[in-house]
Amino acid sequence: MLLTTDGLIIKELKSGEDDRLITILTRDNGLLRVYAKNARKMKNRGSSATGLLCYSRFVIFSNRDKYILNEAEPIEIFFDIRSDIEKLALAQYFCELSLTLVPEHDKSEDFLRLMLNSLYMLMQNKREALQLKAIAELRMLTLAGYMPNLVMCDKCGAYESDDMMFLPEEGIIICAKCLNSNISAYPVPPGVLQAMRHIVYSSLDKLFSFTLSKQSLILLNQASEAFLLNKTSRTYKTLDFFNAIIS
Ligand SMILES: [Zn+2]
Repeated sequence: MLLTTDGLIIKELKSGEDDRLITILTRDNGLLRVYAKNARKMKNRGSSATGLLCYSRFVIFSNRDKYILNEAEPIEIFFDIRSDIEKLALAQYFCELSLTLVPEHDKSEDFLRLMLNSLYMLMQNKREALQLKAIAELRMLTLAGYMPNLVMCDKCGAYESDDMMFLPEEGIIICAKCLNSNISAYPVPPGVLQAMRHIVYSSLDKLFSFTLSKQSLILLNQASEAFLLNKTSRTYKTLDFFNAIIS
């Protein structure tokens, strides 16, 4: 059976001389692991469409649970990202997040749009790296079913407080008056909380439309990263690498 789909390559493994196993974040079929035979021998057009971070239109031959690449035509190649080590590190982290959070054979259009928009913003220097990182972490978790509850203090119902704290284990906010001091909590002052609410609750086309100071971006990232590590219960080599570069 032949399947035609748009998708972004988020993982690439060389297999022998010319073959590759690529993982594609598709629009309609979740993640697909596709065998690309003779990837380098494919006509030029095909081979520039099958590398990491290529967004391409794929024609894939599927037989039971095996997928073999038939044709690939590039739509957008985020090539400029590769010439900047910080951008490449962040893009690879986004790929690792997708590999962890996108379902295998489910509709994945929102994940794909989030990834494409994030990579575009990153490549074009439209937003700070730390802003894009927090957006990717919080929004991807939300899409994957881990939506935090940021509406009000979980105990007293306060909507805003200068000393609001985020609890990554529960994914809730608690004001300083209600906080039990033994619990792991991250400060989210009003501007940071507003940004978190925006990332989690806004529509996808408005997702990137907010600004924060550098100091607030750091607080936002501490909260979003703690939430991610807590919910996915694992570490990320690409995250450690990115954090080492920017520190
Ligand atoms: Zn409270």
